[in-house]
Amino acid sequence: MAQGTQPRRVVVVGAGLMGTGIAHAFATTGHRTVLMDVRSQAAEKAAENIHGIVQEGIRLGKLDAEKAGAVRELLSTTTDLEKVAADAELLVETASEDLAIKADIVRRVDPILPRDAILATNTSALSITEIAAFTADPGRVIGMHFFNPVHKMKLVEIVRGIETSAATIAGMQAWCEAIGKTSILVNETPGLTTSRMSAMAGNEAMWMLLEGTATAEDIDTAMRLGFNHPMGPLELGDLTGWDTRLAVLNYLHKTLGEKFRPCPLITKMVKAGRLGRKVGRGVYEYRDGKKVPESGLRNVI
Ligand code: NAD
Repeated sequence: MAQGTQPRRVVVVGAGLMGTGIAHAFATTGHRTVLMDVRSQAAEKAAENIHGIVQEGIRLGKLDAEKAGAVRELLSTTTDLEKVAADAELLVETASEDLAIKADIVRRVDPILPRDAILATNTSALSITEIAAFTADPGRVIGMHFFNPVHKMKLVEIVRGIETSAATIAGMQAWCEAIGKTSILVNETPGLTTSRMSAMAGNEAMWMLLEGTATAEDIDTAMRLGFNHPMGPLELGDLTGWDTRLAVLNYLHKTLGEKFRPCPLITKMVKAGRLGRKVGRGVYEYRDGKKVPESGLRNVI
């Protein structure tokens, strides 16, 4: 292959839910992608899932069959972080949401990565600045926040830490473009743009329900048909899980102030175990994964 036509090289660290989607995004857009996990079974299972998503894409006519062969050629798995980091142009850390784990990964790869490689993290809530402080070159550390499911969601929030360099931001914007994602640039703040707006809308919808402004169905219909949102804020809360929602609101309340104080109805629902779809009942009730018509919260006020 002629110089300059070699596929670019990416390492994805952490082969869980997000690592699977992120490696899929890179491998299907022609990048040599290594998926690394401390558990070899997790990495192998993730690769299997990626090939499954590719086959489904072909079946739906979204990918051509040649792509499947190319992805098999481009995607590999490993448990040896140091070995693969030495050759990476971009490393995306997407291991478990635990600062100690992320600190250990960036501390280990920092001296090994090529000098101009970008070190990105997909953390949802941890500080990019704090993660970058574990490296000798915090200018190349940046947030690359994907959305689940990665193969369906177009957005990447690029998160700028206090030391992130302009070259790293420009490089990251180019990577996002290369995998067909639309990126936005966000300064590191609690909740970034997405979690912050979504938590606020969900909280406000709960206040309206508590105050008797409208029924749950009508509040959701207002957002779906009045603003063209694909889902109403209460349906979305059921999907996200009200325990997760409450944890995010508590964090935003602590960091950003009074306007994020969780609506007491959310606390009550979590106490009642109405966590959302995952347990079959939240604002609405679900059977076989489907919403039960006319079901839902009683005794709200
Ligand atoms: P997950 O639990 O599905 O996967 C985490 C993976 O990391 C596991 O396979 C685990 O074995 C691996 N891991 C743990 N320690 C490791 C190490 N030292 N080196 C390599 N691999 C290691 O988690 P997830 O939902 O994929 O989330 C991963 C990251 O993405 C988190 O930071 C999370 O906050 C962020 N995120 C999640 C979502 C979401 O919707 N789940 C959305 C955006 C961002």
